[in-house]
Amino acid sequence: MSADDWVSCPICIYKRKNSFKLLKDKYGKISQEEYEDLKKELNEEHEDDEDVGGSTPVRIDREYGLSDKGYVYLSFSAVCQKCGASWQHNGEKILPLDKDDAAIVKEMMKQC
Ligand SMILES: [Zn+2]
Repeated sequence: MSADDWVSCPICIYKRKNSFKLLKDKYGKISQEEYEDLKKELNEEHEDDEDVGGSTPVRIDREYGLSDKGYVYLSFSAVCQKCGASWQHNGEKILPLDKDDAAIVKEMMKQC
């Protein structure tokens, strides 16, 4: 398996947007000091957003191919280096499109 790609983390983006939305919503509803403290806290919380893989902290690993038993295998995993969110998809077996070939592959898979 190899790391082919780095992409933005949808979880981090959501959290960042939500944090600053909270700050915006608090404007005028809390004291100036509380507002500045919250702003400072959020800026510190998100200051390293650009440091972990730039703005693309999610490492994607994938492997796919045609097995010697005649099916396509797919393995996909992604982990955010910043927040730890992870995704995984494994074990998909895709048979040949032709139904006669697919029947042969199913027979070979039974012999595993
Ligand atoms: Zn993340």
